[in-house]
Amino acid sequence: MNSIIQILSPNFDARASVGQPNAISHIILHYTDMSDCDAALARLCDPQAKVSAHYLIRRDGQSFQLVDEADRAWHAGVSYWRGQTDMNSASIGIELDYDGHVGGAVAAFPEAQMEALMALLKDIVGRHGLDPRNILGHSDIAPGRKIDPGEAFDWAALHQAGFGIWLESVATEDVPPLAEGSLGKAVTPLQKALAAFGYEVATDGVFGPQTKAVITTFQRHFRPAKVDGVADAQTQSLIYAYCRAALKS
Ligand SMILES: [Zn+2]
Repeated sequence: MNSIIQILSPNFDARASVGQPNAISHIILHYTDMSDCDAALARLCDPQAKVSAHYLIRRDGQSFQLVDEADRAWHAGVSYWRGQTDMNSASIGIELDYDGHVGGAVAAFPEAQMEALMALLKDIVGRHGLDPRNILGHSDIAPGRKIDPGEAFDWAALHQAGFGIWLESVATEDVPPLAEGSLGKAVTPLQKALAAFGYEVATDGVFGPQTKAVITTFQRHFRPAKVDGVADAQTQSLIYAYCRAALKS
């Protein structure tokens, strides 16, 4: 692993106790949405900005540590996963130097950056004894509010390396699509599967803006070819095949 350069940020506080001996249970991945790593570093260390992450990985693979892992960095904001709302306390945050959704287009993350990320994940997961599946995108924990690391992030490659979650393609069931405005019997089980998986979504049988945001966020991570918030047959099949099965493993 490349040596990590330490540039400490003033933007952190103490982790809240979440009732476990080791409060750190997750790793959250972000992109910086900035054209330049130096600018991102400056922002993540600016006391006025009140944002930070534990690590930042430049496009060429050089990693920076900004906050001690024992401390709580400020990267998740308003967030939710499996009942936990203080994801900053429960996670280590990693920022990827990346342009973001410029003009709606998304570019692949450079190989050197992905390799550095995997080396860092291996190190963190090993030292903290984390479940390697507990690696999420910012969008997963803040649907409708955050879209990073975006649909160009290669979750499949990460999963192949042993980290995070990816859904292999499943046979598509013959079910009608559900979209904003849909009501009733077919909506509730879909919401229940998503909620059981970890997303914050009401199980009220109403496909409203919140359900649409969660479907969109699910697609961004697990079905990036079409991210439109419509639970088409393929999206529903993935949710049923995986979200339910994940609970039993
Ligand atoms: Zn983010």
